Amino acid sequence: MASESLKSNKIFNDARERVYGGISLELMPYKNEGVTDFSVEENKEAMLRALERVRSGFGRTYPLCIGGHEQITDSIIESRNPSNPDEIVGRVYAADEELAGKAVETAAEAFDSWSRKSARYRADCLIKAAAIMRRRKFELSAIMVYEAGKPWLQADADIAEAIDFLEYYAREAMRLHKGGKVHPYPGESTNYRYIPLGVGAIIPPWNFPSAILTGMTSAALVSGNTVVLKPASATPIIGAKVAEILYDAGIPGGVLNFVPGSGSTVGDALVKHPLTRFVSFTGSLEVGTNIYESAAIVREGQHWLKRVITEMGGKDALIVDDPCDCALAADAAVTSAFGYQGQKCSACSRVIVVESVYNAFMKELMERVGELNVGDPEDADIDMGPVSSDEAYEKVMRYIAIGKEEATLAHGGGRVGKIGYFIEPTVFVDVDPHARIAQEEIFGPVLSVIKARDFDEALYIANDTIYGLTGGIITNDRDHIERTKNEFHVGNLYINRKITGSLVGVQPFGGYKMSGTCSKAGGPDYLLLFMQPKTIIERL
Ligand code: NDP
Repeated sequence: MASESLKSNKIFNDARERVYGGISLELMPYKNEGVTDFSVEENKEAMLRALERVRSGFGRTYPLCIGGHEQITDSIIESRNPSNPDEIVGRVYAADEELAGKAVETAAEAFDSWSRKSARYRADCLIKAAAIMRRRKFELSAIMVYEAGKPWLQADADIAEAIDFLEYYAREAMRLHKGGKVHPYPGESTNYRYIPLGVGAIIPPWNFPSAILTGMTSAALVSGNTVVLKPASATPIIGAKVAEILYDAGIPGGVLNFVPGSGSTVGDALVKHPLTRFVSFTGSLEVGTNIYESAAIVREGQHWLKRVITEMGGKDALIVDDPCDCALAADAAVTSAFGYQGQKCSACSRVIVVESVYNAFMKELMERVGELNVGDPEDADIDMGPVSSDEAYEKVMRYIAIGKEEATLAHGGGRVGKIGYFIEPTVFVDVDPHARIAQEEIFGPVLSVIKARDFDEALYIANDTIYGLTGGIITNDRDHIERTKNEFHVGNLYINRKITGSLVGVQPFGGYKMSGTCSKAGGPDYLLLFMQPKTIIERL
C-alpha cells in the first residue's frame, strides 16, 4: 500500500524542500469544499459507478503499516455492511499490544526528522492529500455507504469535511509557524515559537470515519508530531484508505503508523506507552474518561505528563420557543435528530417545547417524521440507513424499551425489514427531563420531546445534563436569543437553524462539561493542542 508511493513521494518532497528552502509561501485563501449535487445526472452516474467498483472489491484484506512496512498478522478484523451484515466490505490485519508498542517506538524514532521539517513542507503534504481525496471523492463516499451505512449526502459531506480539515490545518500550521507576539525588551531579542509535542496516539470513532479520523491525524502531523493511528474497528477500511492517501501525499511511513486493532487492547496499549506524549481521542464518555484517567499515570521511563484531548458524547437539545416558526423548528428538529440515523455527537436527542406552541409544533414534527424513508443507502433516495452495527442496534432497541416504560411512544420504535440494522425514526413524548432517555446518550434515531412551562424552564432543562456539546433555539424573541447566548452552556450554540453540520474553519466544533476537554476542531486554537510554546531570549 505505502511502500511504492513512499519512494516516489520522498524524491518529490525532498526536491520541494530544496526549492522552498523552508520559506513560507502563501497558499490560496481557504474555502470550504462544496458538497455534491446528486440531482445532477453526471454526479449520480459517477456515484453509481463508484458503488459498483467498491462492491466489486469487497473482501480485500488491508495490511497494517509500521515504519512504512506493511505487515500482516494472524488476527483479522472484518468490516461488515450494516445494511446487510452477511457482506464483508473488507478486512484488516489487526495489531496486538506488542505491535502497538513497536509502532509507538517507530513513531518516536521518526520524530526528530519530521519535527525539523518546515511548516510549509508538512502543510504541502496535507494540501496534496486534499487534492487526492477530491479526485477520489466518489470512491471514498461509496466505501462509507457500505461500511458505515451513510446515505449519499452524509457520506459526501463526510469527505468534504475531511478535505476541509486538510486544507484548513495546512494554513493554520503556516500561520502558527510564525510564532506568537511578545513585547520587545531593550538589549535582548526574544522569540516565542510553537514546537511539536512528540508521539501521538490517534483514536477516532466510527461515525465520521473519514472526517474525524483525517482531522485528528492531520492536525497532529502538520504540527510536527508523529502518530500511531488506530481506526475504529467498525470502519477500518475507510481508515486504511485515508492512511494510503496520506502516504501517497508524502507523509513518511514512520511518521504515520497505521495500526488497526481492538480498542481495549491496542488502544489501551497506545495510551499507556511511556513514549506516547499525547492522546487525541474522539468517542464515548465511558472510554474517554478511562483514557483520561489512564493517561494521567506517569509510567516507568516516561518523561512528561501526557496531554489528552478528548471529544466525547452529547445529549443535545433544541428549544422550541414561543413565538417561533413551527415549520422551521420541525425542519431543524428532524434534520438534527434523524440525519445519519441520529449517530452524530451533535444530533438533537431532546426537543424542549414551550407549552404554548406545543400542539402547533408537534403537528409539523409528526408530519415530517412520517415522511422519512428508511432503507439501504446504496439507493440514492434514502433518508435514513441502518445503525452501524449489531451492538448499536441492540443498544438503541434497549433504550426504546426503556422509553416505552418512561414515556409515551408517539412514532416508530420498531425494526425495519429483516436484514440489516434498520430502525424506524422514533419519537417519545411526555418525557420527564430526568428520564434515562432524556439524560443518557442513545446514539440512534430516538428523539425525546419534553414540554416546558415557559422559556425559563426550557433553558433550565436544556442545561440540566452532564453534557454540553451542541444546542439550539428556534425563536422570534430577541431577548430570548440574547439570554440563550449567555445562559445555554454548550460548545456550539445554533439559533434558528439545525444543530448539526458545523463547517471547518467557519464554525469550530467541540463541547464543554462531560462532552470533552473543550477543544474546537476546525478552529483557530485547535493546532495549539498539538504543540508547546517555547520562549528563546538572546542578550544582544
Ligand atoms: P467508542 O468510545 O466506543 O470508541 C472510540 C474509539 O476508542 C474507537 O477507536 C475504539 O476502538 C477506541 N477504544 C475503545 N476502547 C478503548 C480503550 N479501552 N482504550 C483506548 N481506546 C479504546 O466510541 P464510538 O466509536 O462508538 O463513537 C461514538 C461516540 O463518539 C459517541 O459517544 C459520540 O457522541 C462520540 N463522538 C464525539 C464527537 C465529538 O466531537 N465530541 C464526534 C463524534 C463522535 P474500537 O472501535 O476498536 O472499540
